Amino acid sequence: MSKTKNQPRRKTEKGRNSKPLTRIGYGWDSHEFETSIPLKLGGVSLPHSHGLGGHSDGDVLLHALTDALLGAIAAPDIGSLFPSSDPRWKGTDSSVFLREALKRVRAAGYAVSSVDATLILLAPRIGPHAEKIRQRVAELLDLPPDRIGLKAKTPEGLKTDNAAIAHAVVLIERRSTAA
Ligand code: MG
Repeated sequence: MSKTKNQPRRKTEKGRNSKPLTRIGYGWDSHEFETSIPLKLGGVSLPHSHGLGGHSDGDVLLHALTDALLGAIAAPDIGSLFPSSDPRWKGTDSSVFLREALKRVRAAGYAVSSVDATLILLAPRIGPHAEKIRQRVAELLDLPPDRIGLKAKTPEGLKTDNAAIAHAVVLIERRSTAA
């Protein structure tokens, strides 16, 4: 193959390897309700008869958001970075996981643009606490609250009344200084 023929191919490969302007990430998690433990959702303590079990504080929303951030940069997931077999993470405030994921997103040359999440649980009702949760998630991600979408639904027909489920998507944008 001649040099001339190779030149356009190199250009194409260079373009393919540069950082995309935007990337999306998706995360999902579920935890089971247990008696006599505190309930934390989105970094906020909520009054309820049950809390969410798990090795950390069981914050299903922050776990889904953490995986969404990590997924956006194709990093290892939350279970790989913070394995439940490691006693260091026992009872850990899940904001630690989210902040680490945010740090990795920034180190990869991106900034979080917005997030959107859905909680699925029978109780407690999220509506009265939604603004507080949005504020806290915004604070953890250094974003204004109007970049944080949060919906809550009940698990009709899913037979998951004793669990809380969270789905989250995130959009990240390449920082102007990034190559
Ligand atoms: Mg989890």
